[in-house]
Amino acid sequence: MTGMTPDLGALQADLRRLAEIESPSGDREGIERVMDIVEGWARDLGAQVTHLSGGTRTFELGVDGAAPPLLVLTHADTVWPRGTLEQMPLRVDGERLYGPGTYDMKAGIVGLIHALRALELQWPRGGVRVLLSPDEETGSESSRAHIEAAARTSRAALVVEPPVADTHALKTGRKGTGTFTLTLTGIASHAGNKPEEGASAIGAGAEAVLALHALARPEAGTTVSVGLISGGSAVNVIPAHCTLHADLRVSTLAEAERVEAAVLAWRPKDPRVTVEVSGGLNRPPFEEGPATLVLYEQARGVAQTLGFELGRAVVGGGSDGNFTAPLTPTLDGLGAPGDGAHAAHEHVRLDRWPSHVQLLTELLRTF
Ligand SMILES: [Zn+2]
Repeated sequence: MTGMTPDLGALQADLRRLAEIESPSGDREGIERVMDIVEGWARDLGAQVTHLSGGTRTFELGVDGAAPPLLVLTHADTVWPRGTLEQMPLRVDGERLYGPGTYDMKAGIVGLIHALRALELQWPRGGVRVLLSPDEETGSESSRAHIEAAARTSRAALVVEPPVADTHALKTGRKGTGTFTLTLTGIASHAGNKPEEGASAIGAGAEAVLALHALARPEAGTTVSVGLISGGSAVNVIPAHCTLHADLRVSTLAEAERVEAAVLAWRPKDPRVTVEVSGGLNRPPFEEGPATLVLYEQARGVAQTLGFELGRAVVGGGSDGNFTAPLTPTLDGLGAPGDGAHAAHEHVRLDRWPSHVQLLTELLRTF
């Protein structure tokens, strides 16, 4: 195997440049500042840059139409609001670099740039197309169509989200995620004088909670949880309104369709209470299929030559890999190792990071 060991000092310096800029989803200015730096790095490599609607950018390296390119997915947004750096400054403690947005996923972006530099302009057949999204953490509303369009014309998608927390394991599947909102409307009346004239939306809501939870099939990977509920106007009024919000996770599209059909068909016992359903699946499941496992086995072989054992796991959280997996072979978790995504102990493992950059370099060279 060729290639130099990545320079940990340079990796850290570039990570600090990105992580010192706060870029929560929706913060256009912060996100554009991060994107401008990444764009500068990409231009230094000769990238053709495109700014798409909604703020997504693509950087193409050696894309010549001779073959479909490799797609690499990245996102510039974080879950951390402005001001977080004051409470959680970037700091190194032993082998760990702590700070908001480091592990998820600014270190993934930096590792990718270093991997691309290490190719020394020898792009793989068909080239590399990097997509940088502004809104992954809030469901990719503006970037989804761009991601899907890119996936349709790429031969594989590599996602530089972090590996499974505190391991060397890649993500070879992710659950699909969705939310349902049920709005129940009954009839208000005096709880003491005319209870029979009322139709309780909260009573129907209680039935709905049990009905929704009964749709879970944990053995098949399906979970349903009503996480928010509100309703009623006063304690002595039969309540006319109740609203429920439920979180849905599924491992297969068939399960999503089963749950969706059951939610739409559900009716309260009291026919005077009406129900309106909105929402559904946001990210489809990224099912662990043979095409992904072929990529994983190749990656595992490369990791062995680099001296580490690459595991794999199917995880509950979604990523933009959920959008590409139905369209092109997808491998996720190729970012920087560490732990604490969306948590106060978010950090990158400095001792393990260079070998993952080397892994990505070799995959970009050989895929
Ligand atoms: Zn992420």
